[in-house]
Amino acid sequence: MEDRCRFNTKLLHGKTSTGYVQRELLPPVSQVTAFQYESMEELEKVFHHKKMGYAYTRIGNPSVAALEQRINELEGGAGAICCSSGMSAISAALLAICSSGDEIIAGNGLYGGTIDLFHDLEKLGIHTVFAKSLAGDEIRSLITPKTKVVFGEMISNPSLSVLDVPDAASAAHEAGIPLFVDSTTATPYIVRPLELGADVVIHSTSKYINGGGNSIGGVIVDGGKFNWDFEKYTALDGFKGYGKMAFSVRLRTDIWENLGGCMAPMNAFLSFIGADTLGLRMERICENADALAKALDKEPDIKVNYLTLASHPFHEYVDKELNGKGGGILNFRAGSKERAYKIINSLKYAFIASNIGDLRTLVIHPASTLYIRSSKEEMEAAGVYEDTIRVSVGIEDKEDLIADFVNAVRATVD
Ligand code: PLP
Repeated sequence: MEDRCRFNTKLLHGKTSTGYVQRELLPPVSQVTAFQYESMEELEKVFHHKKMGYAYTRIGNPSVAALEQRINELEGGAGAICCSSGMSAISAALLAICSSGDEIIAGNGLYGGTIDLFHDLEKLGIHTVFAKSLAGDEIRSLITPKTKVVFGEMISNPSLSVLDVPDAASAAHEAGIPLFVDSTTATPYIVRPLELGADVVIHSTSKYINGGGNSIGGVIVDGGKFNWDFEKYTALDGFKGYGKMAFSVRLRTDIWENLGGCMAPMNAFLSFIGADTLGLRMERICENADALAKALDKEPDIKVNYLTLASHPFHEYVDKELNGKGGGILNFRAGSKERAYKIINSLKYAFIASNIGDLRTLVIHPASTLYIRSSKEEMEAAGVYEDTIRVSVGIEDKEDLIADFVNAVRATVD
């Protein structure tokens, strides 16, 4: 029954809503480091995966497992692994299949932290080729025998390019390479990339999934459909017996466990209850963002970047892939850094904070914060200029948001 119900019903009545030991309505918070057993034999069986059970929270924890199951269910995956942060999820996912000498093809205009990670990976001998776009033909032209993964953001933060998943996936698959998609800004409410052909989906749960801005976390969801070539993916040596699940099993029993980036049980619980309202929040956030973008677009001296605006280069993808929604992030260019700061400082209903996906509207000047480690070219490829303001739209009343932003813009005309 639950497989066929719609998104909001699935959130509350999906498989993850039942089966807790004391019939709790929510997953209990197992805020422990380790689990005790009656005998050494029993614990040995748990370590050898011959008996279901938990041993040590870095390796597995029931509160974290509840969130993993829920997100897996929402994304339609074959298995999910929660991590200490979105960055930890991206790092673990890439390191599960890439070793020194390998190459990654990445979209342009990615989140600044991810660009920084790719720079760090260079020092480990893993080279990233940044594509101008992740269009199929562009991917085909960049693939070499060393390419191990194509990585893109579903809706890039903050440039707002949309990944054409079927096109990118078919180019990657022709060469036997998987497509990894960071879908943090899109959320499974807007789009489920696995259904469109992606192989692995990653989220920073710190954003929309948690929604309340109260805990950092990440998750990797494996679609479980990719045919790994074990000659090519030597990092998966020893996991051939798991076939299409080799990536997930290597992650869980090897790289993720050893990197030590597990999610804290309390963070899993907070993100679980946050996710209960993901559908409602996204509905409202997208409606507010659309209304705010359209109102700001009427102001003559600023340049607004939001997906539902007819002028947006990725506008057609709103209906094609994004279920008619534009997401919660919009950017606008104020004309100068000074004016951008004045606008930000004069807003009443937007918090100045370095985050997205909160219930509250948040604003930031990305060039002087999130992109301080990126080159000017990388910044501009991400749609970030000296005068860009990024807005993560919240669930406030849209009339108040519109009045606040329009007043701030008008009050600061040069
Ligand atoms: N991916 C995207 C698209 C993001 O926006 C962010 C953070 O802003 C991350 C990944 C990193 O997530 P975290 O801060 O949870 O490590």
